[in-house]
Amino acid sequence: MADLRPVGRFAPTPSGRMHLGNVFAALIAWLSVRSRDGEMVLRMEDLDTQRTSGEYARILRDDLAWLGLDYDRETPPQSRRTAAYDGYFEKLSQMGLLYPCYCTRSQLHSVNAPHLSDGTYVYPGTCRDLTDAQRRAFDRAPAWRVMVPDKVWTVEDRVQGTYTCNLATDCGDMVVRRADGVYVYQLAVTVDDGEAGVTEVVRGMDLLSSAPRQMYLQELFSFPHPEYAHVPMLLSPHGRRLSKRDKDLDLGVLRQRILPETLIGTLAFASGLIDQNVPISAKELAKEFSWDKLKGDSIYLDASAL
Ligand code: GLU
Repeated sequence: MADLRPVGRFAPTPSGRMHLGNVFAALIAWLSVRSRDGEMVLRMEDLDTQRTSGEYARILRDDLAWLGLDYDRETPPQSRRTAAYDGYFEKLSQMGLLYPCYCTRSQLHSVNAPHLSDGTYVYPGTCRDLTDAQRRAFDRAPAWRVMVPDKVWTVEDRVQGTYTCNLATDCGDMVVRRADGVYVYQLAVTVDDGEAGVTEVVRGMDLLSSAPRQMYLQELFSFPHPEYAHVPMLLSPHGRRLSKRDKDLDLGVLRQRILPETLIGTLAFASGLIDQNVPISAKELAKEFSWDKLKGDSIYLDASAL
């Protein structure tokens, strides 16, 4: 694996301006690939067409250029990939792993408390064994679930270390297509990363619990597992998570105030990549990037200086 030319990706959701956490994850993804002469792919994750827009996608590309984070190719946005996802859905169907689920959101939430850190509810298998007659009695379109095996998945994460999850007990059978026909993130991301030949997935820590679900689908679709690196969330000096809600820290505001080198220097210093908080370009930083320098636990960022 290590001898292959790495292929990394940016997979932003064009639903708003990038905030500091997005910038940080994108920076590390880019550094990992560019420091080893690898290839970078951009993909817009716009499955949620209500919340995303072509205008935000355009701004995102412009923000990446401003940061100096270039890429070699852009693959089609997820909103235009339905035909490809249909093909993989069909594969799952032929494997006999899919079944329709008629549960409503409130039914699902009443039986169980969220289990995985991302708020996933463990699905108890309510609709798994419905008869055809019972299915026909529901007068509405179903979501589709893939059955998951009772097996422990191990993610050897470059930053977080070993993470394990048994999908059967931690998540239950997974929805792959919603009742409105829209494919879910887990399926789309697996297909897109697999078809693009992505060898490493670098993203925020909040998606660590998604990795085993994606590894399961990778196996079903015969894609190799990429390497995973889930970078820590950024915290304020008081320990509060910096998020999208911190409007004064999104790039729309920051770009008016500071240079990209100042922002990158601040992030690089806070995360242990450089010893002093000095301005530095992404390109310069790539020359000295090493995963060993990156802090694995919480990263405190004093954003008041930005
Ligand atoms: N589209 C997701 C986001 O913007 C990232 C998904 C991923 O990296 O797998 O948070």
